[in-house]
Amino acid sequence: MTDPLRVIGWFDAPDQQVPVHDPPHNGPCMVCGEPLAMPLKTVSLMYSENGPRKSYFYRAHSPCIDTPEKGFAADEKAFHTVDILMGA
Ligand SMILES: [Zn+2]
Repeated sequence: MTDPLRVIGWFDAPDQQVPVHDPPHNGPCMVCGEPLAMPLKTVSLMYSENGPRKSYFYRAHSPCIDTPEKGFAADEKAFHTVDILMGA
């Protein structure tokens, strides 16, 4: 199991410019687990208004999330990883 802190980053408020936690840029891809390299994408997780106030994001190789299906699967994995991070 990948350490959630190595794949998930977050902002505490919507207007923050610098993340409170920024996972290593050479950390594991959310999808394949291999070290990140260009081209890569940073993806913000969308929560409902009732969700956490922090805004979470993850990174993945662009080819790992280049279809809606792959992107959806990666988001699911990321939401699950955030749950682990929050001790759910
Ligand atoms: Zn990948």
